Amino acid sequence: MASAKTQKIIIIGAGVIGAVIAYNLSRRSGNSITVLERATPGSGASGHSFAWVNAFGKDPREYHTLNRRSLDIWYRLAHQLNEDIGIHYGGEMRWENTKQRAAELQHRIQKLQSWGYPCKLITSDEMLLLEPELSSGPIEAASYSEADIHIETDKFISVCLDRAMEFGVSLHTEHNVTDIIIDKGRIVAVKTDDAEFLCDVVVFACGIQTTELAALAGVQIPQQRSPGIVIKTSPCATVLHNVAVIHAPSVDVNHQPLHLRQLADGTLRIGQGTQEGINRDDSQEHADTLLAQAKTYLPAIGTADAIPTPVGYRPMPLDGFPILGFTKAVPNLYIALMHSGVTLAPLVGEMATLEILDGARVDWFNPYRLERLQ
Ligand SMILES: Cc1cc2nc3c(=O)[nH]c(=O)nc-3n(C[C@H](O)[C@H](O)[C@H](O)COP(=O)(O)OP(=O)(O)OC[C@H]3O[C@@H](n4cnc5c(N)ncnc54)[C@H](O)[C@@H]3O)c2cc1C
Repeated sequence: MASAKTQKIIIIGAGVIGAVIAYNLSRRSGNSITVLERATPGSGASGHSFAWVNAFGKDPREYHTLNRRSLDIWYRLAHQLNEDIGIHYGGEMRWENTKQRAAELQHRIQKLQSWGYPCKLITSDEMLLLEPELSSGPIEAASYSEADIHIETDKFISVCLDRAMEFGVSLHTEHNVTDIIIDKGRIVAVKTDDAEFLCDVVVFACGIQTTELAALAGVQIPQQRSPGIVIKTSPCATVLHNVAVIHAPSVDVNHQPLHLRQLADGTLRIGQGTQEGINRDDSQEHADTLLAQAKTYLPAIGTADAIPTPVGYRPMPLDGFPILGFTKAVPNLYIALMHSGVTLAPLVGEMATLEILDGARVDWFNPYRLERLQ
């Protein structure tokens, strides 16, 4: 039997993607794996995420299926890790209060059902059975997507990295990668402010900084700027008893729809608009307004305070779809850059491992190779 080749693998970035890749790689013995993180784990987009794991609004069909595959793997990964990763089961519930948006929701549910997504239209009585604290106002249509979950990214990252380190991975925080050394077309070393790490393979899991770092290797990664805000609150009574995430319509024409989830410590996370909505308003006033809207639907939130959070930037390739795989220009450079990274993390962790360690080319990733953008 041929023995597997030992490789020195460097992962740059310890967000959900770097952490899950490190965990998956570490489960296969014989390689030397190092994670370099310029700040602290989860300090990039992962720490600002709404972290709704879903394939609800993902088009076209192929991209929906990619997300769906990962959503299904989340259940297996949670079982495998068997620790508190802040996973909240229970599905996603939403409703609409205008005829036009109700028609759009009905159409979406019909399409998702034809794709085999476990979702359905529900009545106002069924909504109240799921969430008794809800004061929904007028309802034109409502739906429930049973498989959706949400994650507490800080817990997940920390469990993945702890497991990876138990399997021998070295994690270096506060190690800012500043240079990439190329020899004969391959990356041979990665430099931080005060150290140099030799490598056979480098994985870029560095979110929005991927473009800047790839340029050092002569690789162009086109990205768009996508700022978003998810505010926090102080802990409050349990306002969501069953579902993991709700999407509520705008309270009036001056406001956007909102999405909300409740964590195990009782705090809420609230965002507005769509998952990709642009928002740079990190003021207390904006946070107060969002919370006030949420209270109209969930009065049991009571006296919780709104805590503004800094703007988070979504890693967002130019066409909105992931960039996954080794690059043709620099064959030992593996890119893992994507929006919806919380949803996609388990799939990316497993499939990237097959591509990196076994030389497989997973055809599910073929539409998402970098070369499509060049
Ligand atoms: C407001 C908002 C809402 C979102 N909502 C959802 C959602 O509901 N569902 C969903 O699935 N996704 C959502 N996302 C997207 C999701 O959060 C991201 O796709 C995911 O977190 C990306 O993870 P990552 O590990 O690739 O990147 P990041 O979390 O950004 O991690 C990259 C890491 O690399 C490090 N790094 C960067 N440069 C260097 C360097 N030079 N040297 C060393 N380290 C470096 C950074 O410090 C960072 O820790 C949302 C994102 C935002 C901002």
